Formats: sequence, structure tokens, C-alpha cells
Amino acid sequence: MSMIDIIYGTKILEMTYELLRAAAVDNLLRVDTNVVIKPNLVVAKPANEGATTHIEIVEGIIRFLKDCGVVKLVIAEGSWLGENTGRAVSCCGYDVLVKRYGLKFIDTKKDKVVKKNMHGLELGICATFFENDFLINVPVLKGHCQTKITCCLKNLKGCIPDSEKRHYHNIGLHKPIAVLNTILKPNLHVIDGICGDPTFEEGGNPVAANRILIGFDPVLLDSYCAGLIGYLPDEIGYIRYAKEYNVGNLFNENTKIREYRKENRPQTTSRNQSQLVQELTQLIDERNACSACYAALIFALNKSGIRNLGKRISEKIKIGQDFRNEKATGLGIGDCTKGCRHNVAGCPPSAIDIIQVLKRM
Ligand code: SF4
Repeated sequence: MSMIDIIYGTKILEMTYELLRAAAVDNLLRVDTNVVIKPNLVVAKPANEGATTHIEIVEGIIRFLKDCGVVKLVIAEGSWLGENTGRAVSCCGYDVLVKRYGLKFIDTKKDKVVKKNMHGLELGICATFFENDFLINVPVLKGHCQTKITCCLKNLKGCIPDSEKRHYHNIGLHKPIAVLNTILKPNLHVIDGICGDPTFEEGGNPVAANRILIGFDPVLLDSYCAGLIGYLPDEIGYIRYAKEYNVGNLFNENTKIREYRKENRPQTTSRNQSQLVQELTQLIDERNACSACYAALIFALNKSGIRNLGKRISEKIKIGQDFRNEKATGLGIGDCTKGCRHNVAGCPPSAIDIIQVLKRM
């Protein structure tokens, strides 16, 4: 399905529920559907640091499933090498969540392993992910120091044992991630785009974008999300491989984007800003900008390395609804700043569009 649904706001649980209903996910479920929810609990850090899946999203999914009559439901995840999954579970509040709903949390580091051969690779995968008929992938949209971005496709790396994680790094990382996605095929992807860190997978530089995205094609979603945080899909090796292996289709002009609660976009927050984000903020003249727009500019400034040119930028970059109907010099971001001498169109624009204009200038 060439469709992506996006909702904006800060009431995360309610947004998730509304988005699942809007995407008609109930039509895909039966009361005897056996569901596994796979969040991202890569490290023991709270979700507001930009690395792990907000518990409210998973709770929204659980409530939706329960209202659909689904009773067979578990949460499964294994943290990265060197992290204890139990620590991440309690740090992020998943221990309380599973107790509240009477669910089981499966630490996939302790799971049995099933071997599969595909595209010339033998890969070990945790057995839990073969013991369900509806897998819900709940990644965080964020940067990654080796693969540039991590979202739907790469989140499945939490479905493999630690020994296999080492193996992936030995065999190039991108190809095995794509091959893994030819074996495990989540039925639904619910992307946490609330405040992902554009730089590191372990968080610390959260940038509020206040959005959640839903879709069914991980290649479509990842290629769209790459643009949101400043990358072309071609720059991400595992997206290229996944396309080659027919895991899904790339985002293009025919992709239908449905947006909900657009009125909630002006939710820019300056709380919890890391030093990196504060430095980038110095380059911006922000007046009532929507979170997703502002986040796109922060992602673009970070990716383009413009921070190092800070002293040579004579005029701050303008962004926000208060620039509507104003004539101004310099660069403006988004349709609200059409009156600026230079402008990146879009409402909101993507980080990749901003980067391309920054490069030209
Ligand atoms: S261009 Fe659109 S997204 Fe950006 S600040 Fe204006 S209304 Fe918000």
C-alpha cells in the first residue's frame, strides 16, 4: 500500500490510537490474532532522550488491540550488545506497562534461535518472531553513526541474538539488515517520530518533531523518513538492498501522505535541548514554528555541518508562522516564509530539501 499516515501533537497515547483507527488497522485483526509488538529499547535511556520508543505509543497500540478484542499479545525486544534488556525495560517503564495490562515481555537475548538461509546468507533470528501472525514494528526515527538513519528496516536488528549482531557487523551490516527484512515481514509499522536524535542511535540530542507515522511498507516509510531527517534514500545502503530484494517500494510523488491534527503542529519545545541543538538554534530566527518544520531545519543544519560556519553566517535563518505575509532578506524555511529572498517551500519541508538549498547558497 503506497500510503503513509501522519499525526501531529503531544498527546502521544491518544494520537497513536487515532492513527491506528484512521489507518483501519482493525480490519486486519481477528480476536484470535496472535500479536507481537517490537519497540526500540536499544539502551537504558528514557524516550525523551531520543533513542527509545515512547511507552505511550505502545500503550496506545495495546489499548487499540484490546478494543479490537485481541487477547494474544506480547512485547518482545533485545537491547544492543553490552546493554541489559531488563535495565532498558525498567528505565523506559515497560515493566510497569506489562504489569498494568497483564502482558508478557520477552527478552529476545534469552530466546531460542531459528536459522534461515536467504540471498546467500545464513542468519539466526529469535524464535518469538516466528510464533505470531501479526508483527507490529515500533521503531524510533533517528540518526545512526554507521548507517546514517535507523527506522523500520533497521529496527528488526532487535529480533536477532547478540552473536548475530556481531556477525552482521562482520558482513557489512547493510546487506544482512535488508536480508533480515526479506524473512521477517512486519504487518504494520508505527514510527515514533516524537523527538528522535538526528546524530546517534543512543540518544542525547533529542529534537522535538511531535509526530507519529504509520504504514505497511518499510522501504516506503524509510525512504520517506530518510528525507525528513536529511538523507536521500540512495545514501542508505540497507534501503538500496531492501529495494533490490523487493521488500518494498521507494517513496515517490505518487505516494499518498495523509496528515491528521495538522492544527497541533505548532508545538515547538525548547525543553531538554542538548548543547548541539542549542548551538544550532543560535543560527535560527524562530517565530511560532511548527515542531516538524523546526525539526527538519535542525536535522538539515546538523547534517550539512553548518555549525562550523556559524560565525560566517551573517543572517539568521527564518522559520515560523509569524513570518507569513512578511517580506524579508535572507533564507526562510517553509511556506510561511515565502516572502524571504530565498525560500525552501513545503509545509513542512523535508530536511533534504533544506540541505539542497543550503548547498546552493
Ligand atoms: S511552513 Fe507549515 S509547517 Fe512550517 S511553520 Fe509554517 S505552517 Fe508550520
